[in-house]
Amino acid sequence: MPDTHRPDMLADDPHVTLITPSAPISTPTHGGRAKCLQRLVRLDLPVPRTVALSFQTVHRIAKGQMPDVAAILHQFRPGALLCVRPSSEDPDWGGPGSVLNIGMNDAAFVEFSDRIGADAASALYMRFVMGYAIHVARLDPDVFDDIATTGQQGLSDALRAYEEEAEEPFPQDPARQLAEVLRTMARAWEGTTARLLRQAKGAPVDAGLGLVVQEMALGLGQGECGSGVLQLVDSETGLPQITGRYLSQSQGREALKHGQSLYLERDPRGPSMEELAPEAFEQLKAHARLTRQRLRAEMQIEFTLENGRLHILDGVRVKRTSRAALRIAVQLAEDGVISRQEAVMRVEPRGLSELLHRQIAPDAQRDVIGRGVAASPGAATGRIVFSSSEAQAAAARGEPCILVRRETSPEDVRGMHAAAAVLTERGGVTSHAAVIGRGLGLPCVVGAARMGFRLSDRVLLSEDGRRFREGDILTVDGTSGQVLAGAPQMVEAALDDAFQTLMSWADAERDIGIRANADTPADAATARNFAAQGIGLCRTEHMFFEAERITPMREMIFADSPEDRKTALARLLPMQRADFTELFRIMEGMPVCIRLFDPPLHEFLPTDRAGLRDLAEALDLPVSDVTRRVESMGEYNPMLGMRGVRLGIAIPEIYDMQARAIFEATLDASKDGAPVVPEIMLPLVSAMREVELVRTRIDAVAAAVRNERGREFEYSLGVMVETPRACLRADEIAQHAHFMSFGTNDLTQMTYGLSRDDAGRFMSHYVQQGVFPEDPFHRLDADGVGELIRIGVERGRRGNGGIMLSICGEHGGDPESIAFCREAGIDYVSCSPFRVPVARLAAAQLAI
Ligand code: PEP
Ligand code: MG
Repeated sequence: MPDTHRPDMLADDPHVTLITPSAPISTPTHGGRAKCLQRLVRLDLPVPRTVALSFQTVHRIAKGQMPDVAAILHQFRPGALLCVRPSSEDPDWGGPGSVLNIGMNDAAFVEFSDRIGADAASALYMRFVMGYAIHVARLDPDVFDDIATTGQQGLSDALRAYEEEAEEPFPQDPARQLAEVLRTMARAWEGTTARLLRQAKGAPVDAGLGLVVQEMALGLGQGECGSGVLQLVDSETGLPQITGRYLSQSQGREALKHGQSLYLERDPRGPSMEELAPEAFEQLKAHARLTRQRLRAEMQIEFTLENGRLHILDGVRVKRTSRAALRIAVQLAEDGVISRQEAVMRVEPRGLSELLHRQIAPDAQRDVIGRGVAASPGAATGRIVFSSSEAQAAAARGEPCILVRRETSPEDVRGMHAAAAVLTERGGVTSHAAVIGRGLGLPCVVGAARMGFRLSDRVLLSEDGRRFREGDILTVDGTSGQVLAGAPQMVEAALDDAFQTLMSWADAERDIGIRANADTPADAATARNFAAQGIGLCRTEHMFFEAERITPMREMIFADSPEDRKTALARLLPMQRADFTELFRIMEGMPVCIRLFDPPLHEFLPTDRAGLRDLAEALDLPVSDVTRRVESMGEYNPMLGMRGVRLGIAIPEIYDMQARAIFEATLDASKDGAPVVPEIMLPLVSAMREVELVRTRIDAVAAAVRNERGREFEYSLGVMVETPRACLRADEIAQHAHFMSFGTNDLTQMTYGLSRDDAGRFMSHYVQQGVFPEDPFHRLDADGVGELIRIGVERGRRGNGGIMLSICGEHGGDPESIAFCREAGIDYVSCSPFRVPVARLAAAQLAI
């Protein structure tokens, strides 16, 4: 065949260019596929000739301006068949399907029949006719229903069906065929559905499409012909393993559907590529290894064998789970292919939470019965229970259970400890259930308001009205926010060596500290396991809900005189001391920041009749008395009421007891371990004088303990900045504090005037209608709340140059919020223990 193609013809048009090592091709102008093909060409791999059309060209085609198609055809051998494939900037944004065998017509059919046999030639032509008819001429696929898809008879029937339906003979001119295919693919990209689909995957509104026109290597014909794909790693685990598919006498991606395994295990459906074409198989593996090395990524290689000769058609990034992505990045860095920093950059921090928890298997069947806010990641299956006491009973029987509540309160903490997962009707990302769930690493879906919570009937209704009763099996998927009937298949958490390695690389880069919010020894152990650099917030109120503590706690609340109160507090003191001693021991000298008592006292009192009766019995008082006292402590707006440091001012004995417990524990833990310097934090401060008053008392307690024990210790005292006023007056407050920690949950609540427990009811409307770009309890509002924080940082440092600054609201585990904190000059963030790895990785990426 005379070689009449003219490689120079497109030379000066960068928008329609032959892919050569030096052609002006880039991902943002021609798409990822075109760029990748150029890289393969540069590696001198046997890539068929390919012409790349830029985004601009394709956009013009969609508007009716066709480039010089004859010039494109001239780039290829006369009579060669072509395929056109999409090349979007990011492969995840999709694109129209490829069209193969362009150029096939009656004359080519005769030639190909001579060369490769009539059956193979019929198959090539048939495939093109059907593809063209359905995608380009937009004929109904039914037209071909009764036609055999192989053989010459099938081909003539298909051509006739085309002619009848399209009212013209099948186009024979390759230039027209190519032009029509280009036009169809360009228009498909501009269609509304395609646009919405890719925007949902994060593509910008004006994302462009490039196209590549490639000479076909025929996978059909004489000798060993076929096509397939190969990759060097397992997509699920990321572990090295040569996997792929190959199918003799096939084209395109047919091998993925029907092909044999390439290798090793003999496939009952036929011989493997290794047996059929051992030499080509060796070459293919060598090409794949070279590609990994030089493209610095794990690629899936698409190839064709034509009469035993290997052609590399394409390379795409291997599809991967989060677990595989992490292992691939680590392995590439360990092999010296990429740097450690690059490995750290390649792993998506949010994807880590998939590794830290059990998850529903990606291919499991999902019978979704409801949806809510995905409040704490991971999935768990268990039997429905409707109260915390039932949850504890189920745990005692060793049965996993799902705690279903309208919302949770501190009284439910024990039930939550016992449950495998929690589902609530109300609440948002900072509601009680969400915060405790994340702290415990417990899957949690909150605000599933479209389900029916008929708690008095002990019935849960699915969104479509199905009834679920106590004991029925449910699965809560806190990663997606779904509630499912039954027990779908799960995959286990994967804290393997690759995870540890990547995290150590991340820590080497990071320039902002990461601590954990931890209230219990179990939380502290998790925090250490995830290499938190200390505890940034220990919410002490969570220590008072144990069965043996709640009664002295209630006695303390009910005490009529300071004397009675002292007696009740004296019973709590040894318990608190033991709590703190254990925390200090677990943390082995790392900083531990203990927040003094914060919530309003009424949260510790019973509300139902049975609870009131029990309390009356325990306190030896008439029920009517107890009821009256409980009612008198009710507050209209408890979040702005008698809580935080206000309790410390109004009932100072509580803080005195806690301070004493902390100091005694400090001495106890320091005796046989690393020296402890506790940090004591005052919640909900709004005025300097509050800090002065409490500080004077705490200093006095410290002096008393030093005196009694005859030993010295250090401690630091700090303030939670949770009210707008504390931000504004940070300079004077800072003069009395060693550190300030922004409690961004309360600060968000107070800045917006938005109750964190009730906002869930309307938050989705606000986000959907674009009033808020995101739930501000989830992602820090950098404009409003952020401005207050910046003011607080600046004034706090002005008042006390050496002050340490941190945040300890739920935002501490959110990558975007961490970026804000780093820019604002915050020293460390503190988040739920299970979010510590996410925060470590996100912080490292910001520093690289
Ligand atoms: C906060 O308000 O941000 C905070 C950490 O405290 P809590 O969530 O316990 O109110
Ligand atoms: Mg708070």
